[in-house]
Parts: sequence; structure tokens; C-alpha cells
Amino acid sequence: MLRVAILSSEAVPFAKTGGLGDVAGALPKALIRTGEVDASLVMPLYQQTDRRLLRELLFDNLEVEWTGGNRHVRVFLSEETISAPVFLIDAPEYFARPNVYGYSDDHTRYAFFCRAALALLKRLGRAPDVVHGNDWPCGFAIAEVRARRAYDDFYRQTRTLFSIHNLAYQGAFDPRDLGYFGFGWGEVHDAFLSEGAASALKAGLMLADALSTVSRRYSFEIQTPEQGYGLDWLLRQRRERLIGVTNGVDYDAWNPATDSHVAANFNAYDLSGKRECKLDLLRRFGLPEEAERPVVAIISRLVAQKGYDLIREAAPAILETGAFFIALGAGAQEYEDFLQSLRDHAPHRVGVFKGYAGEPLAHQIEAGADMFLMPSLYEPCGLNQMYSMRYGTIPIVRATGGLDDTVENFDRARGTGNGFKFGEYSARAMLGSIYEALFAYADKDVWRRIQLNGMRADNSWDAAARKYVEVYRAVMRM
Ligand code: ADP
Repeated sequence: MLRVAILSSEAVPFAKTGGLGDVAGALPKALIRTGEVDASLVMPLYQQTDRRLLRELLFDNLEVEWTGGNRHVRVFLSEETISAPVFLIDAPEYFARPNVYGYSDDHTRYAFFCRAALALLKRLGRAPDVVHGNDWPCGFAIAEVRARRAYDDFYRQTRTLFSIHNLAYQGAFDPRDLGYFGFGWGEVHDAFLSEGAASALKAGLMLADALSTVSRRYSFEIQTPEQGYGLDWLLRQRRERLIGVTNGVDYDAWNPATDSHVAANFNAYDLSGKRECKLDLLRRFGLPEEAERPVVAIISRLVAQKGYDLIREAAPAILETGAFFIALGAGAQEYEDFLQSLRDHAPHRVGVFKGYAGEPLAHQIEAGADMFLMPSLYEPCGLNQMYSMRYGTIPIVRATGGLDDTVENFDRARGTGNGFKFGEYSARAMLGSIYEALFAYADKDVWRRIQLNGMRADNSWDAAARKYVEVYRAVMRM
């Protein structure tokens, strides 16, 4: 059995802000199902974490080395929740706050989390074969394992995998803090330095034994100056150690046949429940219950990455088609304002929920919508297009990153494809795909064909988990 410790700053159902949360909540379970991996997850205990998920207080006094005086943290264990042991580090000083991210000391918070995670693994007594860190918050752990291999017998054989879920978030901070974190000199110190700042992401990219990212296409895109965020040179340099593994979907959580959040269940053989879900969705958003009128929906963080500039530009044209438009999102004020004004302008056509809604509403939108819009500027993997497919909701996406890998453009003549895809990042190109989708929607048989193509696609975690096992085995030989 391979012993793998996955470190993540978020994981469903304990805490989530986006796709990383879904992935970190599903991967350990999928790894265990392969029968080859003894996987565990380590994450911070946040204010928002439901305390009922914690099974036992494992340590009430774990010592963590820290500049200015060692700290003591509590560690909780949750075992049943995701079918893998989850260790939650309780450091209220850093994590008992209303939000997951967004504080000026985020780098200190995650440097501490990583230090505590490695102290915990050591206290548990069995060295992991692989420490698998995710995104910049875990770059500190990658750096520390690298440093420890030289002087700490416990971590001598441990290898590291660093996964990039979004290269744009780099965890930059003042390099003077490096000394405070114990990375004050040498190779490990230098690995953090990036254009005058310190970057936890760069340290992870530089010091991990292997790198992965969440789709094949994104693994190539990040090696280009356009999408490399200043680190493409490093990714090109390390490309032989970089692999793309497309995320899966947790079908225990995202399955219209069993979903407890939605108004009616349905499946590929009987889609009648989807109509009920649609009426329920329209009611929830205070829209007229016109079941024939198409619903175009979007759920995303409100950031430029998700293509909101295109949506803003195209909104009048979308409304002119007569479709309903439903948006769920939290983020930049300018996009929240735009959504509000759109809603005010066409209250009988537009439904808006501003803020982070949690799981139920996201599921209800996936189930009730007809089309799901993802015009992303870039998209490492994207999960909602795959959730959409499972729920018979047709994705309309820009051909970038994981969206390009997972969505196949519908071909009317051959009856193949599971969505609509455009290439150019422009409102015009996006509208072209929306019109095409609306045209297909008007023909019930054609629409059913596309729905079934998507509902039958297998985007489960099993294939991805097998790939990760291969990567872990390869990294252990390094
Ligand atoms: P990213 O990780 O870039 O945010 P993904 O498509 O990979 O994008 O994953 C986004 C996840 O977060 C999905 O599960 C989506 O349903 C969820 N999500 C995003 N915004 C919200 C919101 N405002 N309320 C509820 N869920 C949200």
C-alpha cells in the first residue's frame, strides 16, 4: 500500500470556495477505492466547518515549531465523512475567521498550517511515501519536506507531488518573512524568490519531485507566456515532471438520480423529473413558470477569469432571445453590480443570487437549467461543465483548458458531442454558440440526443485516481 498524505486548504464538506474543495473532498475516497493507496487528508479547521463532522479529538496539544515561540494546536479526526481519514488542524489564531481566504496574513496562516501538518504526520509515526500538496497554500509543505530530507530521518524517503489547480494564485508575500518561516537561507530560500517577492507557488513548483495539473490542455497552456503568469519558464524547464490529470466528478454527490437537494430525481432513461426541477428553479428565483422557455445559467466566482466581461457585453443580446438568465456568484463588486442591474432591468427574465450559496442552490441550478454557460478566459479544469452534463444541462463553453478537454462540440449530422464550444474570447463568438444551442433546443429530439450524450459520459474519479496512483509510483522512483 502506498501511503499518501494529501494537504489542502479546503475540502468538501468541511470548507469550500471553489473547485479545489470538490477535488480534495473526492480524491482521497477515489484513491482508497483503487485498493492501492492508503490516503489521508490534512486541512485546517475553519470557523465555517460543521463541528458535527468531527469524530474525535485526536491530539489536544500537538507541538508546532514556530518562530517567536512554539505553538500548540488541537487536531481533530473525521473518518466517515469522505471515507478516508481527515485530520483537521485547529489553530484558531489563524483559522477561526469568517472566510477561508482573503486576509493580509494568508501566507503566514498557510505556512503555519503546513508546518503543523508535517508535525502531525510525524506524530502519527508512519512517514508518508508521498506528500501531495495542492496550490500555493501547500507550497510551504513541499519546501519543508525538501528541506527536512537533508536532516530529518523521518522524511528522508518521502517524495512530493504538487498539484496546480490555478496558476494565477501565487501566494506572494514579502521575502523578509521567509526567515520567520524558517526558510531564511539556501536552496529552499531561493526557490521562493520570484520577481522581487516571495511566492509559495513558485517554491512548490521548483522543489516538488513531480508536478501535476488538472487537465492535459492546461498543462500545456501554463508553459506559454500568455498563461504562465511569469512562471512558464519554470514549467517548461520541469515539463518532464509535469502531467495533466483531468479531475473527476464525485457521482455520490452529483447524481440527479439520488440528489437530495433537488425537487425531483431523474436519470438518462427518464428525464421527466428535470421539468419539475426547472419549475422549482424558476419559482426559487421568482420567475414566471414557463417551462418551455430555455434557462441559461451560470455558477461561478465573479472574477475576470470566468468570462464575466463577455457576459456583460452579451447580456442584452441574450435577453433578446427570450431566454431566462440565472446567475449564482460571489466576488468582484463590479460584476455583482452588473448582475443586480440586469435583474432590475428584466426582473421577469433574470434571476440572481449574489454570494456564496453552498451546495443546495448549486445543485438546484444544475438540475433545473437547460444550458450552462462557461465562457472562461482560462479554465484549469472546470467542474460545472461536467456536473451539467450529468444533469442533462448542456454546457456552452470556451475551448480552453479542461473545458476543451471535456466538452465535445455537438455535431448535428453525426449526432455526436455533448455541448457547444467556441474558440475566440469574444462576446460575438460566445453568442454564436448560444444561438446554436437555442436552435438545437427548439428541436426536442436533437436536444434529447445532446442531453443523453452528456449524461452517459463517464467523468467519474476512477480513471483520474488510477492516474494519480501511477504518478505516485513514478515519483517514488525519483
Ligand atoms: P473554480 O475552482 O475556478 O472556482 P470550478 O468550476 O472548478 O471553478 O468549481 C467551482 C465550484 O464551486 C463548483 O462546485 C461550483 O458549483 C461552486 N461554486 C462557485 N461559486 C459558487 C457560489 N456562489 N455558491 C455556491 N457554489 C459555488
